[in-house]
Amino acid sequence: MKKRVLSGIRATGRLHLGNYLGAVKGMIALQNDPDYETFYMVADLHSINTPYNPNIFQNNIKEVVLDYLSAGIDPEKSTVFIQSSVPEHVELSYLFSTVLTVARMLHLPTYKDKIKEDAENANMAMLYYPVLMASDILIYKANAVPVGDDQLPHLEVAREVARKMNERYGMDFPEPQQFKSEGHNVPSLRGEGKMSKSVEGSYINLTDDPETIKDKLASVATDSGKGPTLPAGGGIPVLLTLIELFEGKEKRKNYESNYLNGGIKYSELKSELAKAIFNELVPIQEKRKELEGKPEYINKVISDGDEKARKIAQETLKEVKEKMGIL
Ligand code: ATP
Ligand code: MG
Repeated sequence: MKKRVLSGIRATGRLHLGNYLGAVKGMIALQNDPDYETFYMVADLHSINTPYNPNIFQNNIKEVVLDYLSAGIDPEKSTVFIQSSVPEHVELSYLFSTVLTVARMLHLPTYKDKIKEDAENANMAMLYYPVLMASDILIYKANAVPVGDDQLPHLEVAREVARKMNERYGMDFPEPQQFKSEGHNVPSLRGEGKMSKSVEGSYINLTDDPETIKDKLASVATDSGKGPTLPAGGGIPVLLTLIELFEGKEKRKNYESNYLNGGIKYSELKSELAKAIFNELVPIQEKRKELEGKPEYINKVISDGDEKARKIAQETLKEVKEKMGIL
């Protein structure tokens, strides 16, 4: 039997380089591997645990589907669907919540960070996020999860749920693992933390034109361009990481040795990097233009995907309910 793959993206804005390199590239690699059956959702229910605008939400959901397909997710090979169209995810998550303690959830870094930065908006859905995510994955009995490093603590919860459900109720859930891409942790342009859709000034979108990419890179803080050691924090490591990802390891090494010896000219470095990034985005942007003119096709992809995902989800939910003595 083929191994299953599940991944998702929140409908909180257009995709950026971090989403692409950390998640979508891995999603595409697995979709093209005949040993795997791939399920990729728009995580709309995970998007509403932070403030959002209901009036444009449906549009944001479609944008993620457009970004997926433009980047290379192929609906002939992958099941593309909307999380809330498969309500079984939520029902299963409630059953899973019986094997997790509140204390365990309170200790997760995403929730702790949220409390620190915005306690007013740290709602129950935010606390519950990893429980629903465990359900998103396990409802398809997925083994591999192409996600960035920020999701590792949540994946750990999913593994714990799998073990407990297997022990207590005789389920056969696999313990899902991260499928790690080269860009598993793309840093924020602001020099601290990761690139995030919800952090203004942190990201480069897949739809950005060359000028915008240049302007965004221009905003990355730099120094005099030379020194006895490479800086550990701030903008320089961000630029070096992006150089490694878009221009290769060798190029990064060259810049590092220039920094320690002659010195770096950031204007040249940034303009070369902007070109390299844009080059990788050109085919994605061309595909997006083509797909933007085919809303009916997009709707068909989604409704087919919803139906296919739901069938499997219903089977797993039924099995769990039977084993738990609810059915
Ligand atoms: P938000 O700020 O709304 O949470 P986000 O940028 O964190 O948006 P998500 O929708 O939460 O994006 O995550 C989608 C996928 O992209 C996940 O697999 C996540 O691990 C991955 N991802 C997000 N940011 C990065 C990053 N900077 N580097 C690598 N992977 C990332
Ligand atoms: Mg996120």
